[in-house]
Amino acid sequence: MSQRPASSVRASGPAASTLAPAISNWIDSSAARHYVTLIASTAFIGLAHVLGARIDWRVYAVMGSWVVANALMTRWAARPVDYARRLGRYGWTIVIDVLFLGVTYVMLDAAQYLGIAFFAHMMLIATATLPRPRAIAVAALIVGVYMVVVVLPVAGLVHVASPIGLPPVTGNRLFVVAGIAGALWTVLLLMHLQTRFVNSMRDAERRYVTLVESASDMVMTFDQGGHFLDVNPATIEQTGYTWEEIKRLPNTAFFPPADWPAIMGAFARTKAGASVELEVRYVRKDGAERWVHTSAFPLTVDGKAATVVIARDVTDAHRRHDELREKDERLNIVLRALKAGFITFDRDVRVTSVFGDWARAQETKGVRLIGADLHALFGGDAPGGVLERHADACRRVLAGEEASVSWAYPTDEGERSFRSHLVPLRDAEDVIVGGVALWVDETALAVAERERRQLQQRVADAERIESLGKLVSGVAHELNNPLAAILNFTEDLLADTRTPEERLALEVIQAQALRSRTIVRDLLTYARRDVARPQTPAAPGPILHSLARAMQRGFATQGVNFTVELRDADTAVPLDRTGFEQVVTNLLTNAGQAAGTGGSVRLSSRARDGWFEVIVEDNGAGIPPDVAARMFEPFFTTKPTGHGVGLGLSVSAGIVQAHGGSITAQNRPAEAGGGARFVLRLPLPAEA
Ligand code: ADP
Repeated sequence: MSQRPASSVRASGPAASTLAPAISNWIDSSAARHYVTLIASTAFIGLAHVLGARIDWRVYAVMGSWVVANALMTRWAARPVDYARRLGRYGWTIVIDVLFLGVTYVMLDAAQYLGIAFFAHMMLIATATLPRPRAIAVAALIVGVYMVVVVLPVAGLVHVASPIGLPPVTGNRLFVVAGIAGALWTVLLLMHLQTRFVNSMRDAERRYVTLVESASDMVMTFDQGGHFLDVNPATIEQTGYTWEEIKRLPNTAFFPPADWPAIMGAFARTKAGASVELEVRYVRKDGAERWVHTSAFPLTVDGKAATVVIARDVTDAHRRHDELREKDERLNIVLRALKAGFITFDRDVRVTSVFGDWARAQETKGVRLIGADLHALFGGDAPGGVLERHADACRRVLAGEEASVSWAYPTDEGERSFRSHLVPLRDAEDVIVGGVALWVDETALAVAERERRQLQQRVADAERIESLGKLVSGVAHELNNPLAAILNFTEDLLADTRTPEERLALEVIQAQALRSRTIVRDLLTYARRDVARPQTPAAPGPILHSLARAMQRGFATQGVNFTVELRDADTAVPLDRTGFEQVVTNLLTNAGQAAGTGGSVRLSSRARDGWFEVIVEDNGAGIPPDVAARMFEPFFTTKPTGHGVGLGLSVSAGIVQAHGGSITAQNRPAEAGGGARFVLRLPLPAEA
């Protein structure tokens, strides 16, 4: 028995939409059954003969011809593929059967006793398989043949003795009337009942077939081994395969390998009796992969377990989903470039959509934003007031206003500044259905604004310092001459013999005058800092020695222990001598002040890696970080009024830079005695 799917019968197109499958199958299987019936009947007759029944030899001749006729007829009837022609030929086999049955009855003289039974059986088959007009014709033929079978012996035209010795019916006219009326009634009644039964079955089947065949979803039946048993036209159409191809197709070729595990799992579950839904891909004949949403159910086909799969092509939905995601992605990229994000919310201030980096970060953290209370988004760590201001802005937006909120948020990379703009969202009828909050990261803007203000401040400072410089330069210039006079006369007075008190007083005058001269000189240097001063190669050794000698006295007065250790000091270095002296004097003065009474200061030098280094160290308190950051600024001082104007390091740095060198400062480690260490570096000439 070959399994022909509904679709193959209908493959010629929807015009052939007569109900076919069940009858078609039945016709196929009935041929085999008919053989068995015929041979069994012949054998039964033979057995009866052996057991003593009187069987006319012509009965065997008729039965033999019937078997042969049946063999030829069924082969002939099964040949056409077209269902209507097939059915027509099958109708003829029934007609032939009725005629043979009639002849057999006459030969057996059994009509009067077996009555209409076998004919009724024929009629039932005809009604179940043939269209109504043909079934009626067969019924008429049956009644006609039966009449002949009954009338012939009653009229005495045929004399066949009953095989089991029953009395003959010859001359019994009442039997003719009753037999024929009974037969007619039986045929009509059975026909009527059968038609009703068959019709309701046909309707049900037609409904099912129409449903499956006209379904836009693919409907496929698989056997336990995963082979196709049956598919509907949608499957043929969508997969691009013909039924013959798909029948032979292993399902491993139908599904891409990546989806096999899921499909095997689903198969196993349906085999166990569950219905399973799955989203998988299959490969079309042209090689294209399509997504299908499948529902699989267990089913029994011809007594064997099978699986029905209904598959809906969702490739387009998938694509639309992907496109939508791509669009979202693009929007996210734009928002990221703008350092912005936005949220839409409904009238209950619940989030309906959200875009931007922040939203993504939340999603990856597993926070569900859609549907969340907008206010709750700020979480517990919202800086003060942000929540309230946003809540207020939302209220105003839902009342139809626009609102704007500036806020800052602490992040791992420091505080970030944001501005939110909130506007109402209206539907087609202009009813407010919620709002949109667009936020922009304004951190860079805020930083730029801060820097702008600082710059403005610095320009103002510079202008102020500039005019101050001019003024100071004038004053300093005027002070130089009186200071020179004071120093000269003090020196003269000290050259004479003096009482200790007088000498002390004169030394204080001299020290203070020297200090004043340093300040005046720094002020002048600062005021004239743009004027380039000539540099000539000179050995720094002698300069440093005479400077150290000059400073020695001051340090001694201050009670500061001063040591000098010069190395490589005879290398000629291009120097602006006055400037160089000024820098070293400043560094030594600062060191002396930092070391204080009982402290010590060390001056050393060395040539290293193309640099001539002068190092000034003290064991004072060192430089606090906030001072270190600013000590090279002009007029920055931590010393009380009258002790420093804050120009020393600034002026020194300027002079050293003019030499192409640098000054660096660092604190000495505590184990080395603490304090500060200033290194002045001047470039050595290339040949040195
Ligand atoms: P002034 O000496 O007039 O204060 P400077 O420009 O020479 O101006 O120094 C600026 C500041 O740098 C000082 O006020 C002091 O705070 C700090 N400083 C300079 N040298 C030292 C040092 N050797 N140890 C500690 N602090 C120092």
